[in-house]
Amino acid sequence: MPKLSIRDLDLKNKTVFIRVDFNVPLASGGQEITSDKRIRASIPNIQYALDHGAAVILASHLGRPKGKPNPEMSLKPVAKRLAELLAKPVAMAPDCVGPEVEKMRPAPGQILLLENLRYHAEEEKNDPGFAKQLASLCDVYVNDAFGSAHRAHASTVGMIQFVKQAAAGLLMDKELEYLTKVTKNPERPSVAILGGAKVSDKIEVIENLMKVVDQLLIGGAMAYTFMKAKGEPIGKSLVEDDKLGLAKDLMARAGSKLLLPKDHVVVTELKEGADSRVVTEIPDGTLAVDIGPATIEAYSAVIAKAKTIIWNGPMGVFEKPPFDRGTVAIAKAVASSGAVSVVGGGDSEKAIKSAGVTDKISHVSTGGGASLEFLAGIELPGVAALSEK
Ligand code: AMP
Repeated sequence: MPKLSIRDLDLKNKTVFIRVDFNVPLASGGQEITSDKRIRASIPNIQYALDHGAAVILASHLGRPKGKPNPEMSLKPVAKRLAELLAKPVAMAPDCVGPEVEKMRPAPGQILLLENLRYHAEEEKNDPGFAKQLASLCDVYVNDAFGSAHRAHASTVGMIQFVKQAAAGLLMDKELEYLTKVTKNPERPSVAILGGAKVSDKIEVIENLMKVVDQLLIGGAMAYTFMKAKGEPIGKSLVEDDKLGLAKDLMARAGSKLLLPKDHVVVTELKEGADSRVVTEIPDGTLAVDIGPATIEAYSAVIAKAKTIIWNGPMGVFEKPPFDRGTVAIAKAVASSGAVSVVGGGDSEKAIKSAGVTDKISHVSTGGGASLEFLAGIELPGVAALSEK
């Protein structure tokens, strides 16, 4: 069932509680924000609420303060940065619940940022009393924190039973629109590209996507678990020996949909600038660190024909150039395919950035864990809890 969107709400003179994702990376003991990407991503939704006459209360978690206040994980620097980006004052609450916060209720057009939700252990425990206190601050609820939607916490699920309407924010809406588009009735041919370190992290994703897509292209270290399960030599490449049976079973069920690399870039030791060579059979004593040129060509040909593409995980040890070649080549192939493309996972996102093709990707998902759970076909509690249209 489609979920209510912030666009469906009457916000005029209402206090809206927006669950945002301000879980930003910090340095200098919590004083310096090293990337404000998540703050920037939240702006359109906040601006929308302000433009429609709402009083705005923002709430987020930041890091893992384990249920007690920790100045190194305060949202204060975020309030400052947000105020700069919006060119508007942002009041900072000393806590997220309690009498002090009650006194700071914003008027329409004003913004109040609550302090880190995880200063209270009740947030992650989804405590009903705490959830009720959060809900008492507002008239309507909006969740724009897709990255936290796979967690059933007080601010993502619990408080919703105490509010009249709970809607998806603009960012959440876009995530749901694209992830739904590529997984339910995708335009064909549809292709999933899966890479990264482990098969075990993506078992459910592989199982679910093999039912949906026409072709599954496997890269990264997870390819070597599949290859070993087929009895092929993998040298000392990264492998999950306890997942060989599972890999065999997945390959049997996926049949010709699942493609593995045909050639590999191997080294004797994994370090930047290590001597490497391309092989079709991985020799003893070497480890594979990237897909080879024949694989790039074969995968790119499949990608070029695709109308829908889902990509999660790098094709090799892309942090150590030149072993980023396979990942960057795949990023370029996805970008020039003209397909509806959804990219998830921090590493694939970095790859499309370094290939300079971010603007050619239909949607880059902001939530790593949440987008993987969505791709695995798991209902996200933070989405399920929202009001239906
Ligand atoms: P994930 O978080 O599962 O997407 O995995 C990303 C990590 O997988 C990155 O840090 C890559 O360096 C690593 N990775 C990808 N391919 C390989 C490989 N062939 N050998 C070792 N690590 C790899």
